[in-house]
Amino acid sequence: MKPFQVRLRFHGDLRIFLGSKAGYAVIERRLAEKTSIKDIIESCGVPHPEVDLILIDHQSVGFDHTLADDAEVEVFPVESQSTVRTKKRLQTAVMARFIADGHLGGLTRNLRLLGFDVAWPKNADDRQLLDLMSRENRALLTRDRRLLMHRIVEHGYYPRSQNPDEQTIEVVRRFDLSEAMAPFTRCLRCNATLDEAAKANIIDKLEPLTKIYYDQFRRCPDCKQIYWPGSHFPKLQKRIEEIRSRIRIKA
Ligand SMILES: [Zn+2]
Repeated sequence: MKPFQVRLRFHGDLRIFLGSKAGYAVIERRLAEKTSIKDIIESCGVPHPEVDLILIDHQSVGFDHTLADDAEVEVFPVESQSTVRTKKRLQTAVMARFIADGHLGGLTRNLRLLGFDVAWPKNADDRQLLDLMSRENRALLTRDRRLLMHRIVEHGYYPRSQNPDEQTIEVVRRFDLSEAMAPFTRCLRCNATLDEAAKANIIDKLEPLTKIYYDQFRRCPDCKQIYWPGSHFPKLQKRIEEIRSRIRIKA
């Protein structure tokens, strides 16, 4: 087969994945066999869940499209230019069920605080993580690009920041979750949805001062953790307000 040349132009913040070539958004690949566009894009370092639109000669194509001749390819991230919004999109915009890898404990806690369903199997290996993701149809959150490139991954996101609060804002924006927040409804420890708990039913589990000063309680049906608006509460509320206001500003 005659060798051919593929020229890929990466738009928006996809260039962060291009590694040492950062600053250059164009990569050329010389190929000698028929190759899927997904494999070509991932060979440049860009995981497929980050790619929302692929244009070849102004036509949108899917990941399984194969190339065997010279081509010019335009690759767009999620939420890129509105001018191309009418074309076929490859990613789901809205997704509210997640699975986070073991390094993203802070992000997991923040998302649960906002009421979102985030599985966080701490001691799972990659295989177990991907199995759970697939079985429960969750979007994978990870800064491990290789993991995100796994062919079984349908929905996923690579947090750009290393800071949990920044990551939280990124995820809320990426999956369009700002209207879906329900703070203080989910267990921060185990992800279960909290139940209202009558004070009389849990009073023997409370510290003396908590018994005196608080009347509203929620309890986790799974791990039995009890939640009330105690001394930590203003701090958490402040964090939620900060996240909310920053999403509004930059949205
Ligand atoms: Zn729990």
